[in-house]
Amino acid sequence: MSDTKILDEKYIAHTYGRFPLEIVSGKGSLLYDENGKEYIDMGAGIAVNIFGTADEEWTAAVEAQLKAFSHTSNLFYSAPCAKLAEQLCDRTGMEKVFFSNSGAEANECAIKAARKHAEDLGIDGSVIITLKGSFHGRTVTTVSATGQDSMHVNFHPLTQGFVYADPGDLDGIKKIMNEQTVAAVMIETIQGEGGINVLDAGFVKGIADLCANSDTLFIVDEVQTGNGRTGKLYSYMNYGVKPDIFTTAKGLGGGLPIGATVFGVRAKDIYVPGTHGSTFGGNPTVCAGAINILSRIDDALMSEVTKKSDYIVSSLKGAPGVKSVTGKGLMLGIETEKDVKDVLTACRENGLIVLSAKNKVRLLPPLNIPFELVEKAVSILKTACV
Ligand code: PLP
Repeated sequence: MSDTKILDEKYIAHTYGRFPLEIVSGKGSLLYDENGKEYIDMGAGIAVNIFGTADEEWTAAVEAQLKAFSHTSNLFYSAPCAKLAEQLCDRTGMEKVFFSNSGAEANECAIKAARKHAEDLGIDGSVIITLKGSFHGRTVTTVSATGQDSMHVNFHPLTQGFVYADPGDLDGIKKIMNEQTVAAVMIETIQGEGGINVLDAGFVKGIADLCANSDTLFIVDEVQTGNGRTGKLYSYMNYGVKPDIFTTAKGLGGGLPIGATVFGVRAKDIYVPGTHGSTFGGNPTVCAGAINILSRIDDALMSEVTKKSDYIVSSLKGAPGVKSVTGKGLMLGIETEKDVKDVLTACRENGLIVLSAKNKVRLLPPLNIPFELVEKAVSILKTACV
């Protein structure tokens, strides 16, 4: 066992079952372990490194800001934070942004906003509808928002006020909205941790319409689906809908921690000074990197994402040992006949890192992964499935 593994086993709280390898370096879509073995990275740090590891442009943007000033707190104005918010709003038609440090925090901010919105309207005891199979984070409130019983055990009492609806069941959502005051409906358009389950377009449009015709806010969690992952800047754009609030994190930071809660017209004035905050949120160094990332998610990259996705899907659909392929863009789930753990192990042995989500192999590669590496990865994965 390497020194790192020994230290980690001894001193790190055991919340994760780690893969049995230590990453010591990387470049683009390739990673290297402690023995110098090379891997194609189809995980991108769980959808974070969207331009791969040690990306030069992003590193330069971060380095330049680090040398100017690395942190100020939100008591001061700073250009990277303001400019990133402007870029996010310009690219989405939204109005205002709150920056935090993770997906869970971005969702906490959205949940607090929905509650305050209802209270501002004079409504007490409103609920938020989320979906069964969803995942919204690990804080007590976001774990309570998560519609999976398995995530709730051990953590009672949960935060009150969440009602879980079945994905696809618009009548179920209408019924809850008729019976209770609903502050918000919060969805992932593709349930990521829940197993790469793509929501039906009519269902998503139906929720957006129900919310638009009431005081209920429509919140989309784009933590995993966002920042170009599905072939659009944000995945809700695939559905022709516009949320009142969307949240994002992961890929936006390109490798540094960020969360963003983005507010549309109906939600832009919910927060006033003193109602929410974060010491590190909007950190200039992180925002300088994110500006670089966001400015490079353009039409050319999106068509590349779609092209690579089409290749992966057509190569794997119907392949021996493959039961189904779900997802969109470069967020794909592959249901295999073999146990998913065995497929992951066989891939690693052959120099490919893939992730899992429930019973599926999950692919979340860097968006700029070269086509030759995609071809090589698909070939390794196909072999691992039989
Ligand atoms: N929401 C979704 C859809 C996610 O996939 C995740 C993480 O996987 C989160 C929220 C939580 O994000 P974080 O781990 O950055 O708190």
